Amino acid sequence: MGLVETAIDIFSLLAMLLGLVVILSLLISALIIFIILLLLAYSFKTGNILFPNLLVTGIVFFESPIRVILRLLRVDDTRMDLLAIKLKNQAIYPMYRKVPFNKRAIFLPQCLRSVTCPATLTPEGIKCRGCGACGISDARKEAERLGYMFFVVPGSSFIMRMMQKYKPEAIIGVGCIYEVRDGQDMMHRHRVPAIGVMLNRSGCVSTQLDWDRLFEAMHAIDMPESAGKAGTPATDDTGNFSHPSK
Ligand code: SF4
Repeated sequence: MGLVETAIDIFSLLAMLLGLVVILSLLISALIIFIILLLLAYSFKTGNILFPNLLVTGIVFFESPIRVILRLLRVDDTRMDLLAIKLKNQAIYPMYRKVPFNKRAIFLPQCLRSVTCPATLTPEGIKCRGCGACGISDARKEAERLGYMFFVVPGSSFIMRMMQKYKPEAIIGVGCIYEVRDGQDMMHRHRVPAIGVMLNRSGCVSTQLDWDRLFEAMHAIDMPESAGKAGTPATDDTGNFSHPSK
């Protein structure tokens, strides 16, 4: 009988300890979410970002509850997406710069092509023929001169297929806000530093890109003379990639 009572006491104690741990975890999570919401409110109001690394970590771990709360507060999802892209670009930039050009890949969406594009679909994506009717031709030439792997993406599963085949150590991904957001998350899960460059105008055909932004991201690398700039912000006020010198 005594043994049974002792077992019940131990079980009760363990249950109480477990309950305390759960309550403590919930309180700590609520506190972190509250702090992140305060930092987000400050960022939305002023355009400045305080404690970017803390914000990135907080958004990665608590994105779902934060989004729910922001929706309840009637904050547009797009604002959160833009800020998240900006923060992730900033956070990843020093790591990205350390990767040599020939170990990086660039993924462009096919919607950037001209409607008269003569390129053909191949297992390695859409192969630009360099007709010059859109900006892809110049981007491809420069990327290949530097040693990049360069792809025009025909479909959603293509990127992972090329990632598995060529195993780039860093990537530049161009797309609309949702593609960039999802791409950053996907690369984060695969521990590959990814810089997102957003289209200026999204859509299904003839979308527009500020090509200078792509070239700036493409040329960013840690050289002895530029090493001091490695930790500086790499995005503009819209969350898009921007060279640190601007
Ligand atoms: S430059 Fe290349 S991608 Fe652009 S329209 Fe011509 S062939 Fe197509």
